[in-house]
Amino acid sequence: GHDVQLRVRVAPLGNRFMLVLATDRTEELRLAGVRRDFVANISHELKTPIGALQVLAEAIEAGAEEPERVRSFAQRMQVEADRLGRMTKELIDLSRIQADDPLDHAERFPIAQVVDVAVDRNRVLADAKRIRIMPRVLEEADVLGSEELVTMAVQNLISNAVQYSPEATHVGVGVRVVDDVVEVAITDKGVGIPADEQERVFERFYRIDPARSRVTGGTGLGLSIVKHVAASHGGEVSLWSRPGQGSTFTLRLPAAAAPAHKETP
Ligand code: ADP
Repeated sequence: GHDVQLRVRVAPLGNRFMLVLATDRTEELRLAGVRRDFVANISHELKTPIGALQVLAEAIEAGAEEPERVRSFAQRMQVEADRLGRMTKELIDLSRIQADDPLDHAERFPIAQVVDVAVDRNRVLADAKRIRIMPRVLEEADVLGSEELVTMAVQNLISNAVQYSPEATHVGVGVRVVDDVVEVAITDKGVGIPADEQERVFERFYRIDPARSRVTGGTGLGLSIVKHVAASHGGEVSLWSRPGQGSTFTLRLPAAAAPAHKETP
């Protein structure tokens, strides 16, 4: 619905006119709502692993469990603690991206290097599932901004591709440059994403299958980080997917213009 609220200020102007200032507060109120939802989301998301840790610790403390069960409880506690740790790190990343503008202190870096590092950081995860990551850089280009954040974004997309794919499949990482835009396309042959979920997966904490995601350790923050990194670099992220066939996430970032300081022979 429409929640329009006008803030009206009346100021005297000379002795014959009044100046009436009306401010539309719709956007302000919307942002306040977004912040409220965010805090509610975080509290909810943190409560689940904390609650699990409490229950498991209590059961162990009560001392009535078989050693075998105690061990399995301790393992579950490790999983939950890992998840809490990851969630905390990702929340900090997200608030850092939102707090400062990476273009303010931009560096120039080759996208091929970003892909190399991002692929490397997923190697262990991919090897464990015998998944082959296949980078293919068709054109070289530089990007302006934060190399660390762009690497984090590409890394997140690759780790999702691996995470949501069956064993022994391929994940493609293609780079090309189209009209001064660098495109990094990450393609998997995994479970895919139904059409009516494709927009929602970019929302904070949104997971299609929370139960399954809990097993894989997902937090639902990865894609919202990617979206923020893209936007803060003047780019975007888009998604093509068909359930049962796979997904392609494409990150598009403006290519940096050729360096001006290059000397001509
Ligand atoms: P998560 O930490 O759960 O992976 P993300 O924000 O990275 O969080 O992704 C949100 C949800 O989108 C995931 O829980 C998953 O359901 C879905 N998803 C993301 N990437 C893929 C993919 N490559 N294939 C299928 N589903 C995906």
